[in-house]
Amino acid sequence: MDKFDVVIVGGGFAGLSTALHVCREVDATVLLIDKNAIGNPRKTSPFTFHDVVERYELHSAILQKYTRFSYESPAGISAHFQYDYVPFVTIDYQKACRTLLRRAQKDGNIEVLENTKAIKFENEKALFRPSKHKLVISNSAEITYDVLVDAAGIAFFASRQLGVRLPSLYSHAYGELLTDCNIEDPERMRIFTGRKYGNGGGWLYPLNEKTARFGFATVTTSADHPEEITRQNFKNALESFHPYNRMLEKSQRIRCELGSIPIGPLRKIVYGNIMIVGDAAGQATPWYCEGMRPALEAGELCAEAIVNAYKKKDYSTKNLNKYQELWDFRNRKLYSRTAQYGYNAWFRNQEEWDSAVKFVASLKPEEMVERIRYSRF
Ligand SMILES: Cc1cc2nc3c(=O)[nH]c(=O)nc-3n(C[C@H](O)[C@H](O)[C@H](O)COP(=O)(O)OP(=O)(O)OC[C@H]3O[C@@H](n4cnc5c(N)ncnc54)[C@H](O)[C@@H]3O)c2cc1C
Repeated sequence: MDKFDVVIVGGGFAGLSTALHVCREVDATVLLIDKNAIGNPRKTSPFTFHDVVERYELHSAILQKYTRFSYESPAGISAHFQYDYVPFVTIDYQKACRTLLRRAQKDGNIEVLENTKAIKFENEKALFRPSKHKLVISNSAEITYDVLVDAAGIAFFASRQLGVRLPSLYSHAYGELLTDCNIEDPERMRIFTGRKYGNGGGWLYPLNEKTARFGFATVTTSADHPEEITRQNFKNALESFHPYNRMLEKSQRIRCELGSIPIGPLRKIVYGNIMIVGDAAGQATPWYCEGMRPALEAGELCAEAIVNAYKKKDYSTKNLNKYQELWDFRNRKLYSRTAQYGYNAWFRNQEEWDSAVKFVASLKPEEMVERIRYSRF
């Protein structure tokens, strides 16, 4: 039986950021477990903000930089923005994950188990003895830990066992990485709104003139949604969404990129010595379902509380709860304010979507960036 200070379930952005920021600061023993390979090649390559890349030193993972941005409705209403700097980039998911992992391994005391699934945790509290926390993993090993971090995304590893109420909305995305495209403006990132190909909007993130990511999402109240529906929406857009049907007419699929993003943060993200981060805590922004930056930032806050507890040699809930306090202080008001608005927004009719695009067209370029990031304006 192995004993670790910190066990992190899930090696996506949230888990890796937590691991990196713990390893950087203290010599705590960390175990990172993922049921797949870390930097799973099936995962999507997200857009994020350029300053996020700088802050987390992920330059080597940049696939494309964007100096132009468009927000468009399939009904033909659009808003266009031009920047004299690079506000947005697309990131290579695999490369970013491997970079974060390498850095954590270089800095700290971390063991990594890939292709290993966390099955369940057990908290035993014996009388007159400190509580013993056990994690059962798929190779039948039992691990003990002081702190367990659930960064397992939509699997909701801890929440399901704890019986916690899960987020009430989910964005089900289906897209493809396409080659042999004929992209007119590869430095323009495009986000689509409206209901025609799914009420969760869509995206075109060109990587160059020939290659682009294109996809659409549907928002529902269930964590499960038939893939055929989102795939069909995508196919319809590929055939009839002008002018993208022309740009992508001869395109070939490199790979599918699909998955679901929980929308709406959990109220509590620390339960005893269990901490919940990233998609597992519903921390993607409820307004644009942007999940990479929130996962990295939440991982950093979670690590701050762990480091503090490690230094005090006291992993009590009081110390770990610092993560809840920090996250709430930075985000809770903003997420709560937009939650109700966001809920209604996803179910708007086409006219309402179109008037939202008209409003957006009145914004200054910098205001548009603020809107995507902080739901301002
Ligand atoms: C198609 C699509 C497009 C997207 N586009 C963007 C975008 O452009 N920009 C953006 O910011 N965000 C985007 N997102 C959202 C973003 O990808 C997520 O919000 C973000 O990756 C969440 O990171 P995470 O670490 O919390 O979770 P995840 O990345 O889901 O990582 C969870 C990890 O836990 C592992 N795991 C799960 N269960 C277990 C278990 N029991 N044991 C061990 N390991 C386990 C999984 O294998 C996985 O590696 C998109 C999402 C999808 C699906």
